[in-house]
Amino acid sequence: MKIDVLTIFPQIFIGPFTESLIGKALRKKILRIDLVNIRSFSKCKKVDDRPFGGGAGMIIKPEPLYDAIKSTGVKRKNGLYKNPYIKPYVVYMSPQGRTLNNDIIKYLVKFKHLVVICGHYEGIDERIVNYIDEEISIGDYVLTGGEVPAIVLIDSIARMLPGVIKEISSVQNDSFYNNMLDYPSYTRPAIFRGHKVPKVLLSGNHEEINKWRQVEAYKRTRERRPDLLKTKVCRTKNEN
Ligand code: SAM
Repeated sequence: MKIDVLTIFPQIFIGPFTESLIGKALRKKILRIDLVNIRSFSKCKKVDDRPFGGGAGMIIKPEPLYDAIKSTGVKRKNGLYKNPYIKPYVVYMSPQGRTLNNDIIKYLVKFKHLVVICGHYEGIDERIVNYIDEEISIGDYVLTGGEVPAIVLIDSIARMLPGVIKEISSVQNDSFYNNMLDYPSYTRPAIFRGHKVPKVLLSGNHEEINKWRQVEAYKRTRERRPDLLKTKVCRTKNEN
């Protein structure tokens, strides 16, 4: 998968995109991320201007942003493609978009090429919506820029790409994958400051361990996120 990130602050991405699993995915060439500096599409490096009608803050101008989008190979919003996942899919990180969840990530991971736009200041000129497929929010709060939301989005997509996480079952057993929360996990020592690990996990009986985990995951989901169970299709945790 290739992801173009359009930003006026490319330096923000250096740490998150060189360390840990994303860094590994880049080195293994499972993922390619190109940081596109919107400023380099403006002759005077000025990318923002005052809002028409007055008001506080600055707005990212449409021309450099449009040219930056075009530079990634995006031709039009609803091009005719035999395979819809071949078309570069353009996402604008915005508090006004659809709130990110696992279903959106499962959908986005199917694309070969994503273009992620990071806004800043008061946002981007509204006319750019003509070149965007979807606006995505990471929650009902406002951040200073779209860079942190883009990192959240890309991290969540990267861990679903085959080969990034060694065992795919680890992704499939994670919270939300099947509209369930994950089961509780324990590691050594078996007794920590008087707190014991549930006996069944030390039994070596994998059928019993699996049953216990399913029950615990269900109990946890019912207690903490009963809303997830309403949308849960009847599937067991290991079916996908
Ligand atoms: N004036 C905008 C509004 O109220 O909707 C907020 C602009 S915000 C200060 C600047 C940029 O940060 C946005 O253009 C967007 O790219 C990004 N941003 C802020 N909060 C976000 C969120 N919750 N999810 C995704 N992007 C966000």
